[in-house]
Amino acid sequence: MDRRAFNKLLGGLAAASAAPARLSAAPSRRIRRIATEEAFTIPGHVTAMRALAAGDSREPDLDFWRGLSGRNSFGEKLLPRLLDVEQIRLAEMDRNGIDMQLLSLTSPGVQMLAPSDAVAMATQANDVLRDIVSRHPTRFAGLATIAPQDVAASVKEMERARHSLGLSGFIINSHTNGEYLDDQKFWPLFEAAEALDGAIYLHPRAPSPAMAEPYRPHRLEAAIWGYQAETGLHALRMIMSGLFDRFPKLQIVLGHGGEGLPYWLTRIDRRHVARQAMVPTRLARLPSEYFKSNFTITTSGLFSPEVLKYCLTVLGPERVMFAIDYPYEEMDEAARFIEEMDIGEREQRLVLEENAMRLFHIAPA
Ligand code: MN
Repeated sequence: MDRRAFNKLLGGLAAASAAPARLSAAPSRRIRRIATEEAFTIPGHVTAMRALAAGDSREPDLDFWRGLSGRNSFGEKLLPRLLDVEQIRLAEMDRNGIDMQLLSLTSPGVQMLAPSDAVAMATQANDVLRDIVSRHPTRFAGLATIAPQDVAASVKEMERARHSLGLSGFIINSHTNGEYLDDQKFWPLFEAAEALDGAIYLHPRAPSPAMAEPYRPHRLEAAIWGYQAETGLHALRMIMSGLFDRFPKLQIVLGHGGEGLPYWLTRIDRRHVARQAMVPTRLARLPSEYFKSNFTITTSGLFSPEVLKYCLTVLGPERVMFAIDYPYEEMDEAARFIEEMDIGEREQRLVLEENAMRLFHIAPA
């Protein structure tokens, strides 16, 4: 190399080092779209839920299974799409630019079954999930179903799910027989989740029977309002119980824009402080501080660019993830929502891909 060429090279290196930001941003990799609350089911689960629905129980969740089982457009459209993963769904993902779905057994999971049936069904569903993920490791990941009605068996299944099945985390569908997770008998589940570095997706189901009556006249029990009211209450019970002081690394995921809680955090904090004289708690921090450090929310079923912006402002871009809620919500509408997101590239990267990778141990592309 002659002197002129050497000087030119030096000049080029100096110019490059003067503009490090441009250099590192230049080869911008396409952002993967990872959807994190996507339902599936297996034939045995449908059979078990249909058997419960054929009884005379007034559990509102069974209305859903009666609808799903009957000859009507709701069931005829949804059931095949819940039972399918590798045919209809993959083709729809390809058409709509959805790279990955984080799958979970549809609500209420196994939580309405008798304990031994629930444990067996969870094992079976998690095995099926492991098979799907191993056939399509770049397209699907999965959350393990557990049966909170048998805490000890669930802890074992959580260990199996993370260590042997390679699943990404866990899903619990709100209350179990009217009982909530702030009850200390359930806390071994949190100890296990923390030890296994597995987030728990607290997914909705309809309000417990004790809470359901006022919802019935206008059929508000399900996704129109009841799911959100039930699951928001559940998350707040967990916060107020102090369980996050005991398990500070525990990570909970809430769908549907955080089930309304981000909108209420300032009021919850104010009323929490104001009522300490009457309702003393031993919480080390404000309720909102737990929400901002132990919870991540998703966009499932809430395709509003305005709500997304609000949640990003309140919680920060590392606490919001993309989700569809397929097949209850349409993939093309979710894809349109992505196109309409009016947020920066860094925020998009976190919301669509990187937060899910970090929280659910999803491998780089
Ligand atoms: Mn869902």
